[in-house]
Amino acid sequence: MASIRFGKFVLPGQRLGVVEEYLPGSGVKALKSGHLIATFAGYAEFDARNHVVSVRPIRSVRKPAVGDTVLAMVREIQEKVIWSDILTIVGSKLTTSYSGALLRKGQGLDYVPGDLYLAKVVDDLNGIYTLSVEGKELGLVQAFCDLCGRPLTLKLNHLECRECRRAYRKKISVHYQRQDWLKSVPLETWAMRGS
Ligand SMILES: [Zn+2]
Repeated sequence: MASIRFGKFVLPGQRLGVVEEYLPGSGVKALKSGHLIATFAGYAEFDARNHVVSVRPIRSVRKPAVGDTVLAMVREIQEKVIWSDILTIVGSKLTTSYSGALLRKGQGLDYVPGDLYLAKVVDDLNGIYTLSVEGKELGLVQAFCDLCGRPLTLKLNHLECRECRRAYRKKISVHYQRQDWLKSVPLETWAMRGS
């Protein structure tokens, strides 16, 4: 039996019970009257075993960690490193973006600024995350033409710009241009690209 029950969404000041029932946990304050109230908006969490009520913030903020799969956007290309912004952790949320470094080792890593790719975090050097695109799931989910900037279309075994009729061989993910990934990209990312 689950001893923790996740309750409804609560607002600051909302009553969550009385001190005879629960101890106030994180995000909860006991009033002199004995009532327990939420101190910020979030989801009430009732721990029946330990008799504690707390409020979980709406957004659980977390940094990337080694082993996470992340969605990243290419920012700048250097000789050995593709500097990127980590936009989201897959299955979680980020409130700010972090820097990721994808080493330009191996085939098909001629990515261009604005390209979106899935990667695994393999190292954390003081907040700069080393990324890897090894594996079928990882690699580009949306790439753009070097020449005209248009989105590249997936053909049988390569990418193509319909406008320039140019073919590209790049390391892509099996999720290339799948809507579910692109929907998780913040809107401002697209605004940055101009259209
Ligand atoms: Zn083109």
